[in-house]
Amino acid sequence: MGAPGAGKGTQATALASRYGVPAISTGDIFRTNIASRTELGLQVQAIIEAGEYVPDDVTEAIVADRLAEPDCAGGFLLDGFPRTMHQVHFLDEYLAADGKELDAVVSLHVNPEALVNRLLERARIEGRVDDNEDTIRRRMEVYAGQTAPLLFHYERAGTLVDVDGSGSVEDVRDRMFAGVDRYSKV
Ligand code: AMP
Repeated sequence: MGAPGAGKGTQATALASRYGVPAISTGDIFRTNIASRTELGLQVQAIIEAGEYVPDDVTEAIVADRLAEPDCAGGFLLDGFPRTMHQVHFLDEYLAADGKELDAVVSLHVNPEALVNRLLERARIEGRVDDNEDTIRRRMEVYAGQTAPLLFHYERAGTLVDVDGSGSVEDVRDRMFAGVDRYSKV
């Protein structure tokens, strides 16, 4: 978990390869669907471009489908999910039905000023449609209002790994590995 631009995607890929599990990014799934103009893509495009959240039922159905694929049987890493309390409960129940639970929840913290600059830089390099200044501001608000409070839930559950997300990609990665390795069951 982390605000837009905190480095979730980059660090998720590194963490997933450390543990040999697939990294599942709901944002990537949506972007792929938008690019190939599927029904789902057309349904979510305007929402994502406005910086809002895709409805819970749509997002949860996608995650359920993805987690049911064979490559997730030995574990998985979710990048950008859950983002709402509804999604948190959905995930807890989905995993419990299978006798599973989350091992660890990583929270990447970066100061908000640095985030906007990182996102504007990413916009220049990757050209993501939701990386313009208005949408960035809206995504920050939505994160603060809907997603940041979920950290309390995971803190209470004892699964939260707080990581300082400032500095180089490698520094953040090493701090994250050190934190998550303590929770590792492999
Ligand atoms: P991300 O790549 O994780 O920053 O996600 C890009 C956009 O996809 C977000 O700003 C949301 O519009 C949408 N999205 C991704 N994951 C979720 C989620 N778990 N719940 C609702 N919307 C999501």
